[in-house]
Amino acid sequence: MSNPLYDALFAPLSGNDRPFLYLHDDTVLSADAFHRMIARYANALGAAGVATGERVVVQAAKSPRMLAVYGAAVTAGAVFLPLNTAYTAEELEYFVSDCGASLLLVDPARIEALTPVARKLGVRLESLGEGGSFDAIAQVCDDSFAAVPRAEDDLTALLYTSGTTGRSKGAMLTQRNLLSNAQTLVDLWRFTPDDVLLHALPIFHTHGLFVASNVVLLAGASMIFLPKFDIEQIFAALPRATTMMGVPTFYTRMLDDPRLSRDTVGHMRLFVSGSAPLLAETHVAWSARTGHAILERYGMTETNMLTSNPYEGARRAGTVGHALPGVELRIADPDTGAELPQGETGMIEVRGPNVFKGYWQMPEKTAAEFRKDGFFMTGDLGMIDDQGYVNIVGRAKDLIISGGYNVYPKEVEMVLDDMPGVAESAVIGLPHPDFGEAVVAVLAQGDTAPDIAGIEGALRDKLARYKQPKAYIVLPELPRNTMGKVQKAALRQQYETQFK
Ligand code: ATP
Ligand code: MG
Repeated sequence: MSNPLYDALFAPLSGNDRPFLYLHDDTVLSADAFHRMIARYANALGAAGVATGERVVVQAAKSPRMLAVYGAAVTAGAVFLPLNTAYTAEELEYFVSDCGASLLLVDPARIEALTPVARKLGVRLESLGEGGSFDAIAQVCDDSFAAVPRAEDDLTALLYTSGTTGRSKGAMLTQRNLLSNAQTLVDLWRFTPDDVLLHALPIFHTHGLFVASNVVLLAGASMIFLPKFDIEQIFAALPRATTMMGVPTFYTRMLDDPRLSRDTVGHMRLFVSGSAPLLAETHVAWSARTGHAILERYGMTETNMLTSNPYEGARRAGTVGHALPGVELRIADPDTGAELPQGETGMIEVRGPNVFKGYWQMPEKTAAEFRKDGFFMTGDLGMIDDQGYVNIVGRAKDLIISGGYNVYPKEVEMVLDDMPGVAESAVIGLPHPDFGEAVVAVLAQGDTAPDIAGIEGALRDKLARYKQPKAYIVLPELPRNTMGKVQKAALRQQYETQFK
């Protein structure tokens, strides 16, 4: 029996002297050196008592080490579980206890704070980083390791969702889920060994870990591996890169920089955006400035990637393109699950080898999110336009029902975003004594202050009355998490008593 994910992603690194990771301190890690690092950590997992199928939680700074521990977990047949570095000790306790981890790896500086948590939960705690205790174990381990056989249906990673709409859920991802998606994306986005990906995303999330890193590994390509998005480092690295994957805020921040021009990115092959909606206006501004059409794609922790704009052919602003090859996608009535005709808005439902096995220890929740025919309800509302492109309208949980009418926030946001003084907007529903929910516009101020009375007047001609906001809130910027997702749940909570 083989280990398909190891065989496809990591085995080819062995004995290969080509560059794999270009680091910000100008050092280069070869493919073979990285493979040996993986083997050492795989041996260290065994030395730390991690058995096949057990969970290894990693909350550590982004580094080649952390990526190597991912490789080690795959190689040793353990289940990799990376956590957002922003989580507090209390939050971490929930995840570690929920998944029943046998090993917890954290930054050396966090050991003291987390020792009581680890003791309480009975999990082994080691540090990963410069001078880390787990690194010390790995250092004296052998640099070869025979990959533990795994089946395609075996669990490889337990990735918690971002917690945008509620408490994060652990998505059980199998070897097949990850491998099938990486294969599809390498083909669709034409990755080759000549590619150098500019990687400035975190690797605790599906975007930076599976989309970016797995695609590069499978293609035999290399990456410029930055610790985080830093505009100086980005512009310094661009000349050596061929491709970049980013969240929309990467693109808006680069657009804000005068260095962005046709010259600085003329040699690039591809820019990919995802994890949050890319404003059509950002797409248009980027094209005008650079001559590149950003390729927007859509996916989620539970399903890996689902849709993509075409590599060749029109990349349409404000859409997420077509279902990926091998992924079935339909728009269904959220209540009945009946497929809706083209052009109608409903629940985006998907089926394919990329779709996860279920939520960790939540059989009821898992059952509730799947239709009888195996389609997974994404929780996102969308419609397919007359040219077959998927348009995401928003999350079902963000849908506003005001006076009995459905209001899709994006429709209102698109109108607001065009108003003078509005950099961007988030439309939310707040509890209201008469309407049940009232439409409220949260505006991020642009260069000038928005003229609210003027906006109200303009909206009267553009939107039906029930869609017009009943209140406006102006903020310097919208609250976002590290993946650039607007935190609408937090906004709803903050302004919950607006009409009470
Ligand atoms: P939780 O499920 O815990 O509330 P989350 O859904 O934000 O958090 P992720 O799995 O990180 O957690 O994000 C997936 C979601 O991100 C999708 O369901 C979708 O709403 C959004 N998303 C991803 N890509 C895009 C995109 N290109 N355009 C619009 N939305 C996107
Ligand atoms: Mg989600």
